[in-house]
Amino acid sequence: MKKRKLEMTLERLEGFTAPDLRLEQYSTPAGIASDLLYSALMRGDLDDTVCDLGCGTGVLAIGAALLGARSVGVELDPVALKTAEENARRLGVEVEFVRGDVATINLKNVSTVVMNPPFGAQKGSGGDRAFLQKATEIGEVVYSIHNAGSEGFIRRFVEPCKVEEVQRVAFPLKRSFQFHSKDVEMIEVELYRISCR
Ligand code: SAH
Repeated sequence: MKKRKLEMTLERLEGFTAPDLRLEQYSTPAGIASDLLYSALMRGDLDDTVCDLGCGTGVLAIGAALLGARSVGVELDPVALKTAEENARRLGVEVEFVRGDVATINLKNVSTVVMNPPFGAQKGSGGDRAFLQKATEIGEVVYSIHNAGSEGFIRRFVEPCKVEEVQRVAFPLKRSFQFHSKDVEMIEVELYRISCR
């Protein structure tokens, strides 16, 4: 599937119907998801099993499957998971969705992790640490989205894995929580490629 087609397909997926503030449920915009997934495809990182940690409504897991990967999505929230399953079913694409906590889930034979973890903006959310921990434990390569300015922390945290690429992109945050005043707020995020080989 061409990149433009991927983006258009992901654009049409159902998002969070009732986003949970504590879980920091923000969908990855289709453009950013397709950039991330296409760069993984070009490097041969979608050849085997891909796991989306905190898959939400499934944009990264479904996108990986559309590009030919065997894809697994893990999510704590049963409501989001149901939307993800419905999104995959509507496209006729096969993704294995698992309800679980990324901190404790047991996953084997994953080669690549893709994720947009909670940024840790909400108090008590635990932020992205449990995600980075699990991702570097199970994946050979990790693609992950983080708040701008996270590079120092991430480089130290993932050791002995190595940050191989950091790309800065503007992330349109759709208004999904009441404390956000504008409809769409642009924030700066960083896309990481981390190698644990
Ligand atoms: N991957 C999706 C959603 C990103 S938002 C996308 O790119 O659009 C982060 C997701 O992580 C939310 O769906 C949230 O419910 C989930 N999440 C937060 N903490 C979690 C945990 N401990 N275990 C599993 N999922 C979790």
